[in-house]
Amino acid sequence: MIRAEEIHKNFGSLRVLKGISLEVAKGEVLCLIGPSGSGKSTFLRCINHLEKVNAGRLYVDGDLIGYRQKGERLYELSPKQAARQRADVGMVFQHFNLFPHRTAIENIFEAPVQVKKQPAGAARARAAELLETVGLSAKAEAYPAQLSGGQQQRVAIARALAMDPKLMLFDEPTSALDPELVGEVLQVMRDLANDGMTMCVVTHEMGFAREVADKVAFMDGGRVVEIGTPAQVLEHPKEERTQEFLSKLL
Ligand code: ATP
Ligand code: MG
Repeated sequence: MIRAEEIHKNFGSLRVLKGISLEVAKGEVLCLIGPSGSGKSTFLRCINHLEKVNAGRLYVDGDLIGYRQKGERLYELSPKQAARQRADVGMVFQHFNLFPHRTAIENIFEAPVQVKKQPAGAARARAAELLETVGLSAKAEAYPAQLSGGQQQRVAIARALAMDPKLMLFDEPTSALDPELVGEVLQVMRDLANDGMTMCVVTHEMGFAREVADKVAFMDGGRVVEIGTPAQVLEHPKEERTQEFLSKLL
């Protein structure tokens, strides 16, 4: 579902990604771990072309991200084409960014109606289903300010799912939450994984990574230092840098 080939990304003279190559198969969950500044968020942002790569290629479901290939040459997609491509990839951030003046259910069906031109009735019905999926049927008419952080994040997940994405990207979705609210969000993500969603999750929740991930990638200094099953990377890391990072978490 995701294929990254030698991705390089610089911000000015700062080299942030230094040749990231990895694959995530359909239905797999990849957890990305690593120290602050190692390039985890930047890599996620490259996957949906919120950041332009300087070199390398990214494919999602066989589609080259951000470009169209004609013969040997690559042409950048127009903003409209890029937006269309991005609509297939759901993204959930640390901060939920719900529209404050819309109810939970309105937040969810807004994009399907505006972007995908779905009829409002059908989009609302689907939004109601998604609220049930994330355990928030009772909160359909609540405004974001009336919801806890965990509930808001679950609405944000439902909102991303409303676009029927092929792939979900999560960037530290529980890092801004009070500890007692983390579990309910991880449970929704676990259910999603069990339903076969392909997911790429930046997280510090090692319990989640151990239990849910098919693959864990440890990033440091813009490189994937080590990638493998949770057992390989978290329990028996081969690389010294991985061992050191994990030992500091405990
Ligand atoms: P964290 O765990 O703190 O979220 P991260 O692994 O997600 O870290 P990134 O946010 O990808 O790290 O940042 C990697 C590096 O790129 C950092 O040095 C950061 O300062 C730099 N960086 C990120 N975005 C930009 C930007 N828009 N302009 C300039 N530098 C940036
Ligand atoms: Mg980050």
